[in-house]
Amino acid sequence: MSHNRREFLKHSSALAGSAVAASFVTPAVASGASLTADATHAPRLSRRTAKPKLTLRFRPYTLELKHVFTIATSSRTTTPVVLTEVEYDGVVGYGEASMPPYLGESHASVLDFLSRVDLSKYDNPFDLDTILHDVDAITSGNTAAKASVDIALHDLLGRMMRQPWYNIWGFNPAKTPYTSFTIGIDTAEVVRQKTKEAAEYGVLKVKLGRDTDKMMIETIRSVTDKPITADVNQGWKDRAAALDMLAWLKERNVVMVEQPLPKEQVDDLAWLTERSPLPIIGDEGVQRLTDIPHAKGVYHGINIKLMKCTGMREAHKMIVLARSLGMKVMLGCMTETSCAISAASHLSPMVDWADLDGALLISNDVYDGTQVVGGKVTLRDWPGIGVRPLKG
Ligand SMILES: [Mg+2]
Repeated sequence: MSHNRREFLKHSSALAGSAVAASFVTPAVASGASLTADATHAPRLSRRTAKPKLTLRFRPYTLELKHVFTIATSSRTTTPVVLTEVEYDGVVGYGEASMPPYLGESHASVLDFLSRVDLSKYDNPFDLDTILHDVDAITSGNTAAKASVDIALHDLLGRMMRQPWYNIWGFNPAKTPYTSFTIGIDTAEVVRQKTKEAAEYGVLKVKLGRDTDKMMIETIRSVTDKPITADVNQGWKDRAAALDMLAWLKERNVVMVEQPLPKEQVDDLAWLTERSPLPIIGDEGVQRLTDIPHAKGVYHGINIKLMKCTGMREAHKMIVLARSLGMKVMLGCMTETSCAISAASHLSPMVDWADLDGALLISNDVYDGTQVVGGKVTLRDWPGIGVRPLKG
């Protein structure tokens, strides 16, 4: 038994309660009694009769960020995540929940939610429609916790089918976009240094929304003229001042702006979107599929993140719906390991902009998966979401 497996067992039995503890019965354990009872013929027979069970395991983990990360509303050096595994008939799929503190989920809330998920009652792991509907119905919110189940199930099914998800969905892996590299709010000196470190990336994503916005842009422009996407994280309040700022940004080759005003200022956002010289993308204001019809006219496009929308299944539906309404689509992330980043990356051939740098910002990744090569999202051809656990 590996160290990792022991950790999963320890945490899930200690924190999960009896419902999930019961689901730890695996096919090997279930057929074990017959194996010893009749060593000559029973094994193959009992394996046929013992139905495989779908089991869920999970453990908390803390990501260490390479740099202090500051946005309009907060600063931090770590991000709590929960790593999940779903097993069926000897095949294991991997998933993850990432919980930046300002979004309201935590180690405690995710572990509590996952302890209420009983996958052992489902006979068919391919019945995502039923399983994920039931998981979503357990509580409202808890979207990162739900995503950790969704991602692990998708990985499991892809491995069982021996196909990566871009093939299952029918996307061309050569059509992945370039990802932006995020530069948080900081001093001119640090911003200049980070801009130089991001030389590999063709697009920079800059966090704005404090009184240093023009300094941030001018500092980057003193180093490079590559395109910039700006994320205000609801940091501006006045729509007329915002419109002036958008014109100033456009002159400096900023190509798109995320969430310029608080999500509650719907009328101001619609006013701004109607007049803006740059595409306005809703992030905080658009969480799930059902938000999209209301976002039409308020934003030009939406930023989809697995942790906001409960995972790959709903994210796929959101892309289809947004496209049908003529809206732009961006695919974003939290600080995450290569597990959740890889899961999202299979959707990236379908989007206008990708911001999938979450695993590049951390120093203790636990998976190998989707890479960024020359700034471009580069998918593995491995089955499922295309990840392998790193040893250690
Ligand atoms: Mg954003």
